[in-house]
Amino acid sequence: MHNYLTRDDILPGDFIQASRKEAVKYGVKFLPSEVVNAEIFKDGGFAVYTDKKKVFFAKKLVLATGLRDNIPAIEGIHDFYGRSVFHCPYCDGWEIRDKRIGIYAKNKNGFELALSLATWSRDVCFLTGGRNYLGADEKKTLEAFNIPLITTPVIKMEGKNGQLSHLVLKDHRKIPLDAFFFVNGYTQQCDLVNGLGCTIGKQGVAMTNRLQETNVPGVYVAGDAARDMHFVVVAAAEGARAAVTINKALQMEERLLKIKQHDKATKTRSVLSAEKQK
Ligand SMILES: Cc1cc2nc3c(=O)[nH]c(=O)nc-3n(C[C@H](O)[C@H](O)[C@H](O)COP(=O)(O)OP(=O)(O)OC[C@H]3O[C@@H](n4cnc5c(N)ncnc54)[C@H](O)[C@@H]3O)c2cc1C
Repeated sequence: MHNYLTRDDILPGDFIQASRKEAVKYGVKFLPSEVVNAEIFKDGGFAVYTDKKKVFFAKKLVLATGLRDNIPAIEGIHDFYGRSVFHCPYCDGWEIRDKRIGIYAKNKNGFELALSLATWSRDVCFLTGGRNYLGADEKKTLEAFNIPLITTPVIKMEGKNGQLSHLVLKDHRKIPLDAFFFVNGYTQQCDLVNGLGCTIGKQGVAMTNRLQETNVPGVYVAGDAARDMHFVVVAAAEGARAAVTINKALQMEERLLKIKQHDKATKTRSVLSAEKQK
């Protein structure tokens, strides 16, 4: 894992374990369950149902359920994903600087990624997965940056121990590469954001305001499932924002309840004393 000051190069599993240990200290409980459904009550509050047939009730709900990358259908790609196949130059660009990099996209988003990666290495090629969608201006820009355009479909990836050595194209050509980046969109890891009625943006992420509030009262979305950059440090910041916002909202709700109870008690007392005086 990169991009998280003081935690550079930590294994994601170790980061999660350390984070959980700290949260437990503050009374947080982790359950090895999948949430299969969540229900909104008319008067506010939620019921959350797990795959272990348990139900939990809550006043507020934070969804930090993440995204799943749509991994291109290329034979062997899963053997290299996360080690020499990536999707984010800001997470993994520095480690492969000056190496041979292939950028793959079946739509125009890959064009920007190819140009971006050309700032990390001068040995970059752009593969369109068999499509031919670039216009004359885009082709000229690639030429200006010395980025070869390959429109033949990619059918296979080969290498050893997670390290890619080359791509095999449909015409049997082999393209030697050290790293491969793709843009192929992503999907929500579960249906909760959608199922609760949160507004979803064009790219499939939940729309929130700067306090992580969605359009559904009481539902907050933090991390990759919400819009904004998909970094661990951003996910953590969004979690902190949602936590403070919820804490303040609960304090305010309690304050209003106490005032209401106080008003009711004062009214009852004055009615009783008026009756006594009669
Ligand atoms: C190959 C790769 C490399 C990356 N490298 C970096 C990097 O170097 N630096 C960086 O900052 N970012 C990196 N990222 C991005 C980073 O992983 C994400 O930004 C980050 O994990 C987002 O955290 P999150 O908590 O929002 O989602 P996630 O980490 O996806 O966590 C979501 C959690 O919710 C759980 N979940 C989902 N649905 C349910 C459900 N219904 N019930 C119960 N649990 C559920 C999932 O099992 C998962 O544990 C990388 C991503 C990939 C794929």
